[in-house]
Amino acid sequence: MSTPFSARSYAFTEQGDALNWIGGAFVPAASGQALPVENPRHARVMGRVTMSGPADVDAAVRAAAAAQKAWARVPVRERADVFYRLKTLLQRDMEELAWLISHENGKTYAEGRASVEKTIECVEFGCSLGNMGAGEQLDVSRGVNCRVDHEPLGVVAGVAPFNFPLMVAMWMLPQALVGGNAFVLKPSELVPFSATRLALLFREAGLPDGLFNIVQGGADAVNALADHPDIKAIGFVGSTRVGKLVYARGAATGKTMLCLGGAKNHLMIVPDADRALTAPNVVASFTGCAGQRCMAASVLLAVGDVQPILDDIVAGARSVRLGEDMGAIISKAAMDRITGYIDDAERRGAKVLLDGRGAQGPDGGYWIGPTILDHCTPDMPCVTEEIFGPVISIVRVKTLDEAIAIENANPYGNAACIYTTSGAVANHVTSRVEAGMVGVNVGVPVPREPFGFGGWNLSKFGAGNITGYDGWRFWTRPRKVTTKWALQTDTTWMG
Ligand code: NAD
Repeated sequence: MSTPFSARSYAFTEQGDALNWIGGAFVPAASGQALPVENPRHARVMGRVTMSGPADVDAAVRAAAAAQKAWARVPVRERADVFYRLKTLLQRDMEELAWLISHENGKTYAEGRASVEKTIECVEFGCSLGNMGAGEQLDVSRGVNCRVDHEPLGVVAGVAPFNFPLMVAMWMLPQALVGGNAFVLKPSELVPFSATRLALLFREAGLPDGLFNIVQGGADAVNALADHPDIKAIGFVGSTRVGKLVYARGAATGKTMLCLGGAKNHLMIVPDADRALTAPNVVASFTGCAGQRCMAASVLLAVGDVQPILDDIVAGARSVRLGEDMGAIISKAAMDRITGYIDDAERRGAKVLLDGRGAQGPDGGYWIGPTILDHCTPDMPCVTEEIFGPVISIVRVKTLDEAIAIENANPYGNAACIYTTSGAVANHVTSRVEAGMVGVNVGVPVPREPFGFGGWNLSKFGAGNITGYDGWRFWTRPRKVTTKWALQTDTTWMG
C-alpha cells in the first residue's frame, strides 16, 4: 500500500504495491493489471505498480470534481497554508523520501536528497502565493475600476517522467492546488512509490481528500487524461516524442496544455575559461544523475585550444565512483540505448577517450560509466539526438560563432552554457543561443524559484514556464471585473 519506506542504506528493500489514490483511498486499477517495478541499482523487483485506464481516470476525475467545488471557495491564504505544513512534513521525512527516490530511480542518496530539497523550494513558492497570488487592479477612468481575479480551472492533471519522481510533480502541484483546482497526477510507472508517500503527506498537511489524486500506469492512463472532457488543463514533463503527442491530443479536446520535452544541451569552452572551475563543473553536469537529467550536458563544443581543460575533464570523469558519486541507469532498455549511441559514434570515427560500456556498479543492476567521445562531427547521432545517459560528445571548432551555429542548429532548446572569464564572450553567447535556460560557468543552469523552468523549441510545447509565476498563470484563469459605483461626472466611450 504505502507503508513508510524503511531503507536507510542502498541495501535492497521491497516496497509492495503502488496503487491509485482516489478520493483519499488507495485502490487498485480496474484492469487488475500490475507491472513489476525494478530498483535499477540492483535490477531487482522492489514492488508492483497498478496499471490504470479510462475507468480509473474517470473515477479520479469524479472524486476531484466533487472536492474542488468547496476548495474553490476557500480563501487563497488558507489553501497556501497546506503548503506551509507540507514543507515541515517534507523536512521531517527527508531521509525516508531521499532513500525511497534513490531506490526507485537508481540515483545516489545525495541526489535523492537534493531532489527533495528542490521539491521543498517549489513548496515554498506555493506558500508565497498567499501573498503573490493577488491580482492587479486599476482605476481605468473616473469612477471605473478594472481588476483581475485568478480563478481556478476546475480539475487539472499532471504527467511526470521517471527522472525526478517527487520534484517534477511539485513543479505543478503548488500553483495548481493553491489556485483552487483539484489535481490528478500520473507518475512514471518506473518510479511510482514516492507519489504515494506524498498523498499521505498531503492528507497530514490538511489537504481535503479528493483534491490530490493519483492514477498509476503508462500510456493508456495518459491518453485517458488527455481525452477526458472534464479535465481543463494538463502539465506534462517527459520526452519530446510523447510530449508532442500528448500536447496535440489534449488540445484537441480544448484543454490548456503545457508539455515539456527532451533536450540536447551544449556547453561551450573557450581558451580563457577558468580551468579549476570548468572541469569539475562539466563532469558534474554530464555525470550527475547518470546523465538522466533534461539539463545534463550532452555536447561539448571545444573552441580553439582548450586541451588542458579537456584533459582535466577526462581525469575528473575517470575518478567518478559508480554507486557512490554516480547512480544507476533506469532500465536495461535505457542501458542498451545508451550503449548503442556509443557503439555508433565509435563506428563513425569518434575517439572514445573514456569508455563506460560494461562498467559494473557495486550491487549488480544497470550501469554505464562516464563516457567521453572526442572528435565527433556535428552530423553524428551522438551529437544530434538525446542520449539521456552519462555521455558527452566533444566537437572541436575554431571559432565561437562556429560553436554557436552548431548549438543553434539543434532542434531542442532546453539549456546551454558558456565557460569563460570574459563578460563580453558571455554576453555574446547568452544573447545568441537557442535555449530557454542559459548558464555562464554553470553547467546545469536550472533557474531557482521563483524564476520559471522551461525551455524553447522542441523542448517545450505550449506557452510560458512550468514553475514560478508562469505556473500560477497556467493553472488559473483570469477573470476581469469592471466596476462602477460612483455616479460619473464625465462622459467617456465607456458610457
Ligand atoms: P517519457 O516521455 O517516456 O514518459 C513521460 C510520461 O509519459 C510517463 O509518465 C509515461 O508513462 C508517459 N508515456 C510514455 N509513453 C507514452 C505514450 N506513448 N503516450 C502517452 N504517455 C506516455 O519520458 P521518460 O523516459 O519518463 O523521461 C525522460 C525524458 O523526459 C527525457 O526525454 C528528458 O529530457 C525528459 N525530461 C524533460 C524535462 C523538462 O523539463 N524539459 C524534465 C525531465 C525530463
